[in-house]
Amino acid sequence: MSRIAFLGLGAMGAGMAANLAKDGREVIAFDLAPEALMRAAAAGRRTAASAAEAVTGAAIVITMLPAGPQVRQAYREDILPNAQAGALLIDCSTIDVESARAVAAEAAAAGLRMADAPVSGGTVGAEAGTLAFMVGCAADDFDAVRDTLAPMARNVIRAGEAGAGQAAKICNNMILGVSMLGVCEAFALAEKLGLDRDRFFEIASQSSGQCWSLTTNCPIPGPVPGSPANRDYAPGFATAMMLKDLKLAQAAAASAGAAAPMGAQAEALFALFDGLGYGGKDFSAVIQLFRGRLSELT
Ligand code: NAD
Repeated sequence: MSRIAFLGLGAMGAGMAANLAKDGREVIAFDLAPEALMRAAAAGRRTAASAAEAVTGAAIVITMLPAGPQVRQAYREDILPNAQAGALLIDCSTIDVESARAVAAEAAAAGLRMADAPVSGGTVGAEAGTLAFMVGCAADDFDAVRDTLAPMARNVIRAGEAGAGQAAKICNNMILGVSMLGVCEAFALAEKLGLDRDRFFEIASQSSGQCWSLTTNCPIPGPVPGSPANRDYAPGFATAMMLKDLKLAQAAAASAGAAAPMGAQAEALFALFDGLGYGGKDFSAVIQLFRGRLSELT
C-alpha cells in the first residue's frame, strides 16, 4: 500500500486523516502545532517529527493548511525538496487560484504530479468521510486522485486543469454567500409584512426561491430542524470561513477582470458581521443583522 503523508491536522485534517487510516491506508501525519500532533497521536495516527520526515518516502502527500501562504511555504520548504520521484501531491486547502497554479507549476517543473482538491462539507463531512472534492489536475492523474480521496469523500469531481478545483470552490461559495443574504433579507421583509414564517417557508421552498440556503441551512429556527439556527447558530459553516472564500472570489474576479458586484456586496456584509464579533457563528446568523436583533445572538 502506498504511504500517504498528511500535513495539517486541524479542524478538517484530523478527521480526514482518520478516515484514510480507517480505510487501511498507511498514513504518516504532521502538524506544526504540537497540540494538533498530540491529538492525532492519541487518536492512533502515526506521526512524524517534521514535515520533511513525513514527506520522505511517501508516495502521496496531502495538505490541509489554512491558506495560500502556508501552502506555498510548505511546498517550497518541505514537500518539493523531499518528495520521491513520481509522488502524487494533493492540496485540499482552500487557497487563491494564483497560488494553486503557482505550486502546481513548481511541482510539474520538479517532475511531480499535483492536484488542487478543495472540499465542501465542513468538519461534519470531514469526520463522516462525506466531503465533496472539486479537483484541478491533469486528466491522466484523475483516477489516482479519486482513488486516494475516496475514503474521505461523498463525491469527487474533476473541474479541469490545475487551479480549476479552487476556481470551482470559490464560485460555488460565492453563490452560497449571495443566496444566503437573499434568503435572510426575504425573511426579514416577510416578517415586517406580517407573514407567518412557517407559511412563508412552505411557499418559498416550493417556489422559485428554493435553494440550499433556504431548505437545508434555513436562517430562522423551526422549519428545518437540523439547521444551525436551531442551535444558536453554532456552525455549520462559520462566518469567518465564508468571508475568507468571498475575499478569494473577489481577488480572483479582480485578476480575471470579471464583474462580481453581488459577491462584492456579500463580502462587505459578511465583513461587517465578522467585524461585529460574529465570525464564529454560522454564516446564516447574519439574518439578525437584517432583523435588527443582533443582541439576541449569544
Ligand atoms: P485549521 O486552522 O483548523 O487547521 C490547519 C492546520 O494546519 C493547523 O493545525 C496548523 O497548525 C496546520 N499547519 C499550518 N502550517 C502547517 C505546515 N507547514 N505543516 C503542517 N501543518 C501546518 O483549519 P481547518 O478548518 O482545518 O481548514 C483547513 C483548510 O480547509 C482551510 O483552507 C479552510 O479554508 C478549508 N476548509 C475548512 C472548512 C471548515 O469548515 N473548517 C470547510 C471547507 C474548507
